Amino acid sequence: MGMFIKIHVDEAKLGEKAAAVAQVCPVKIFEWKEGRLAVLEAEEDECTLCELCLERCPAGGIRIEKLY
Ligand code: SF4
Repeated sequence: MGMFIKIHVDEAKLGEKAAAVAQVCPVKIFEWKEGRLAVLEAEEDECTLCELCLERCPAGGIRIEKLY
């Protein structure tokens, strides 16, 4: 788990957009594995808050929580 950032994924809201979200992150925080979108927890703190993933998904599909 990240020390500064926690990324929450709601797969029900993401629906068919989930695979696209996995591709868009520039620091590879997401992994598309066996039809599911996984967050690589060891990488969460690398998030640059660029919001590219948020732009690609329906409202609430991904939530980025700042822990600081
Ligand atoms: S905000 Fe940017 S860096 Fe952070 S998880 Fe989304 S795409 Fe990746």
